[in-house]
Amino acid sequence: MTHPRGFIIKFIIALLVVTLSTKPYQVYSQGGIVVENPNVAVAFGNSITFTANLKSTLPIQQASLLFREANEEITRVETLQVAEDGAVSFTYDATQNAFPPFSWILFWFQATLSDGVTYTSDPIKFQYYDDRFPWREVNQVNITINWYAGDDSFSASALDAAGSGILAMRDFIPISFDDPIDVYIYSNTTDLQSTLLTGSNQWVGGHAHPELGVVLVAIPPGSGQFIEMETKIPHELAHVMLYRYLGENYQRQPAWLIEGIASMVELYTNPDYARAMQIASDNDSLIPLNDLCASFPVDAGSAFLAYAQSQSFVTYIRDSFGTSGLSRLMNAYSEGFNCELGATQALGVPLSQLDVRWRETVLGQNVAGVATRNLLPFLLLMALVLVVPLWSAIDLLRQRRKNGKQESQ
Ligand SMILES: [Zn+2]
Repeated sequence: MTHPRGFIIKFIIALLVVTLSTKPYQVYSQGGIVVENPNVAVAFGNSITFTANLKSTLPIQQASLLFREANEEITRVETLQVAEDGAVSFTYDATQNAFPPFSWILFWFQATLSDGVTYTSDPIKFQYYDDRFPWREVNQVNITINWYAGDDSFSASALDAAGSGILAMRDFIPISFDDPIDVYIYSNTTDLQSTLLTGSNQWVGGHAHPELGVVLVAIPPGSGQFIEMETKIPHELAHVMLYRYLGENYQRQPAWLIEGIASMVELYTNPDYARAMQIASDNDSLIPLNDLCASFPVDAGSAFLAYAQSQSFVTYIRDSFGTSGLSRLMNAYSEGFNCELGATQALGVPLSQLDVRWRETVLGQNVAGVATRNLLPFLLLMALVLVVPLWSAIDLLRQRRKNGKQESQ
């Protein structure tokens, strides 16, 4: 991968005015702008300073800097003050972390000259690299592990966890080896959270930017590193693989399904998940699956329960309907079915009913209800068997009444 450390773009963009005129000199008389020495200085998480020298044959009336993240649709436009020598500078406040770490940012210039024509330069691309840490890297196939704390065996273990995770998820998710995936391992959650959008949840210990092929996790080197690697790395890789498989339809999937699948491929099952669910079940405070369609709760406790439930629920669906059931679910949601009816379309059962069945089967709720449902075919048969004697008995009763009446008369 390419690092933008000491990144200085040293090329000049000459914008030629395309003209259909047969007089070639008009190209020169119309002029245009030349962007000299465009430069970007990144103070990660603080500021991005864009500088350049704008040169033109005619005086510049107005100039702007335009920039956006490569996958973004919104372009930021900033008016520039142009010095006499054409120098321009703009400092963007990056403290809100609106740009994800390691994303690619495009910027370009526009200038309106005294002829009233607005000229636009070609875009220039740079990576918004978190250069606060001395990153090292090691890679296998399309996975690169980037880390700065811990020795070589630390990164080797991380690679192993990634490989095992990919093997574990290949049954549910088509695996892509074409595009690179960068895993950045921060040594603590504070470092990781300083890269996330302001207002992100404080409990986040892993995060994927699937559209960038970037995975961020916080794993401190030490005795707990293996468990952390085996849970966080496969989970976040699953997000990237799901995104690459589903494309735009990734956004249409319910949160419980995406998070449930990602949690199911974790190589180490969190023992606290079962306990949290049992306590919630006993207190009748389980979260209805229909409330986990759009997003997960923000507070740590509810979010933990949401992950536990999603993992258990998706595992229940896989065990009941097979991996093809999970594929059918993803297809139904890709087609635009809503959260409740996508399940009906894919599995023949609406989500709310699946939720009830899962609570009964996995958590043993409403045992009588389960028993009744399991006995239902038997009870129907019993009813059929009983229906004849019943009516015979009633008939008999009627006959006796009749006879009795007759006798008493
Ligand atoms: Zn996740």
